[in-house]
Amino acid sequence: MGATIAAVQCPYCSGDSSVTETRVTADGLRRRRLCTACKRRFTTYERLGAPGLKVAKRDGSVEPFDSDKLLTALQRVCAHRTGIADDDLRRIARDIEATLLDSGRKSVAWSDLVTLALARLENVDPVSAQRLAANYTDESGAVRFASSSPQEPSPQLGLPLRDDD
Ligand SMILES: [Zn+2]
Repeated sequence: MGATIAAVQCPYCSGDSSVTETRVTADGLRRRRLCTACKRRFTTYERLGAPGLKVAKRDGSVEPFDSDKLLTALQRVCAHRTGIADDDLRRIARDIEATLLDSGRKSVAWSDLVTLALARLENVDPVSAQRLAANYTDESGAVRFASSSPQEPSPQLGLPLRDDD
């Protein structure tokens, strides 16, 4: 099972194309593609916010993936820290979304979002990553599924966001 990416027809010959490179940009994804028929190269741009990608939340409900909510959650985790550029967090949120899109999956568990966020946050700010980990993982580093937090689960990441529904 490799990553499944929506097939895009070659603009020159309408042949099938393959993705040779995916870059996360400020506005979405830029994919370099190679036509498997005529071998021409072309580039496509995709806005993020893929329809259909769902998040299974901690409370059992399901909602559409929203990278803005993910970004908000990351900003809350890092709110007590200085020196973390908003762009860094934005990049993390987009990179997570790109990873999910490239995987071709239709849904993601909130715990997977935590895992994905942790891996990236550790490179940006280990202290914030530890804060996130302390709230959502057990001693072995696995994400806790039981809701042992006294705070209400929040959108997407299960973080305590009081003023966002
Ligand atoms: Zn072609």
